[in-house]
Amino acid sequence: MSPGDVVVALDVGGTGMKCALVRPDGGIVHAERHPTDADRGPDAVVRSILEVAEGLAGKARADGLDPVALGIAVPGVVDEVRGVAVWSANVGFRNVPLRDLAVARLGLPTALGHDVRAGGLAEARLGAGQGSGQLLFVAIGTGIAAAHVVGGVAAVGAHGAAGEFGHILVRPCGPRCGCGRPGCLEAVASAAAIARRYAELADSPASAADVARRAATGEPIAVRVWREAVEALADGLATAQALFDVERVVIGGGLAQAGPHLFDPLRAALRERMTFHREPVLVAAALGDEAGCLGAALLALDARPHP
Ligand SMILES: [Zn+2]
Repeated sequence: MSPGDVVVALDVGGTGMKCALVRPDGGIVHAERHPTDADRGPDAVVRSILEVAEGLAGKARADGLDPVALGIAVPGVVDEVRGVAVWSANVGFRNVPLRDLAVARLGLPTALGHDVRAGGLAEARLGAGQGSGQLLFVAIGTGIAAAHVVGGVAAVGAHGAAGEFGHILVRPCGPRCGCGRPGCLEAVASAAAIARRYAELADSPASAADVARRAATGEPIAVRVWREAVEALADGLATAQALFDVERVVIGGGLAQAGPHLFDPLRAALRERMTFHREPVLVAAALGDEAGCLGAALLALDARPHP
């Protein structure tokens, strides 16, 4: 690679796109944010993605840099091999051949990836997972998803749907999940579920962050809701550890902002659930909401043809 090489990276979420020009060492040269405006429909979102990507490549050239590849991370079910955004609840993608569309428009080697798997990749190679060969990255926000990263590669699954950690069944008689089934982890322990449960019991609205704070001061309803969420997360993580036997669990997303209010009780609850399993080290994510964008950059770097 030459010194002026950069990759164009986009992390497309339900509400916003985080976009950047990134050097091969992970350094961000330039960053932009754009609204996704998903309610315009998937075709309009695809047009925006291609425009923003083209604009960034142009910006790189204008600054004397050489854009060598493009990486795009999107939510939902993603077929990374074919470069197709198969399905997404919040952006509305249905079998969009996003990689081919991007190649046709920009003429750059392009990788399409999944937002949380890309985030896990970035945490593994550049963030809180560095030095750990086997890790699980768990993003807890409006929903819950995970990436199992082994040797710097995130498992994709046979159908592009690996890592749907939020849909592990933890409470068979619990609240109904967005996927239609009662009792998924996401329906009990996502930030949205915590806020919903608190509002239901306290009859007053509060964000998950409020609930964490109030639980720390001993407010009984908040203590109860927070404990329910932490125990459900511990159940989910115990299942994941039985399956994957990872060294480290990196927790990101909005809920990780609760810091020790989350990590201390979660560590204790997970420890209680370990029998012969080795307990993974639980750490907070280091890259914040840039993880997905940096992961898209890493996918772009991996997509470059190697001489
Ligand atoms: Zn579900």
